[in-house]
Amino acid sequence: MILNRLELDFFRNYVHAEAQFAAGVNVIWGENAQGKTNLLEAAAYLSSARSHRARYDKELIQFGVDHAFVKGEVTAHGRDFTLEARLHRGERRQLFSNGVKLKAAGELGEVLNTILFCPEDLSLIRAGAAERRRFLDDAICQLRPKYAAALAEYRRLYEQKTRILRDWEDKPSLLDTLDDFNLRMAQVGAVIIHYRAHFVKRLAALTPPIQSDFSGGREKLSLGYETVSTVTDPEAPPKDLLPQLLDHQQSHRRAELDSRQCLSGPHKDDLAIFIDDQAARQFASQGQTRTAALSLKLACRELFREDTGEWPVLLLDDVLSELDARRQAFVLERIDGGQVLITCCEEDKSVPVTGKRFEVKNGTVIS
Ligand code: ATP
Ligand code: MG
Repeated sequence: MILNRLELDFFRNYVHAEAQFAAGVNVIWGENAQGKTNLLEAAAYLSSARSHRARYDKELIQFGVDHAFVKGEVTAHGRDFTLEARLHRGERRQLFSNGVKLKAAGELGEVLNTILFCPEDLSLIRAGAAERRRFLDDAICQLRPKYAAALAEYRRLYEQKTRILRDWEDKPSLLDTLDDFNLRMAQVGAVIIHYRAHFVKRLAALTPPIQSDFSGGREKLSLGYETVSTVTDPEAPPKDLLPQLLDHQQSHRRAELDSRQCLSGPHKDDLAIFIDDQAARQFASQGQTRTAALSLKLACRELFREDTGEWPVLLLDDVLSELDARRQAFVLERIDGGQVLITCCEEDKSVPVTGKRFEVKNGTVIS
């Protein structure tokens, strides 16, 4: 798939900008704080309505303005699409594909897929579980609209249950609704676990050969999915997972009331990563963690290709400068095939530009 054109209005530091990208490797360069990351963030937003660094959509809207627009022209599956996101302060965002309003963010992924790799991802292995869940969620949401919907519902339920647990002592009547929330959370949680387990299984097959190539055959990487302890087989159908999740909730009921926190459910899941059978989080060297983070992202890109039949658009934000020459060469060699947007600080001559070159300067894109 190709992102042919991106148009922004009042998105972050862009008042208005247009960029016409080419197939192949497009290099976006410029000084610090000019809008390079913002441009990639906008492209990624069109594939998932999610941002890797904003918690709320309103952060994407230019300071002092009430709305922002992002528009992308995409060629995918032999057809042309226009995707649009309209953000309004204090209102729900609206998404459109070829002018038709989308019911759910997950539908964007049926047109445009992106894999974003940024310097923060280099710590994916060592960071807390939340980062790895986010990595899984970002990917699965793009591939499976039903997963995106389940995750959104789970988040709503989680917030409501957290409020019940926080306030029940002052307002005991809140506890009347707890069982309903628990049941609904276990039902939706079972769907989430099922999807995550299947995704991790595929990722676990694709990542090790990349890590092995990367390390000259020296490093063996393996992945595992860690979820609620009562789940015996996370790949089982959701209906089989449900009673196991309810059991776990039941045994943690008292602890949840006492701690006033939601302790049971897939919001605590993790992706376990091992290098040579040792937990990478504790034992991997800095070089190994970088290699593993890269391998995971590149494996994800291949998984998307397997799933959709097309390469997702690869967004590389400032990562090349963080890698040594050998890893740089490996990445550059591995990424041919699909469209790539790479940002870098200066005009980096080591990147083979097979597409176009852009300069970003104070919220304008110059080609
Ligand atoms: P670097 O090379 O340092 O990574 P960059 O070109 O990637 O820089 P961006 O992260 O894209 O820079 O940010 C560019 C500018 O956008 C920053 O100065 C930031 O303060 C500004 N900015 C971020 N959010 C908004 C917003 N909502 N409204 C206006 N400006 C914003
Ligand atoms: Mg940046």
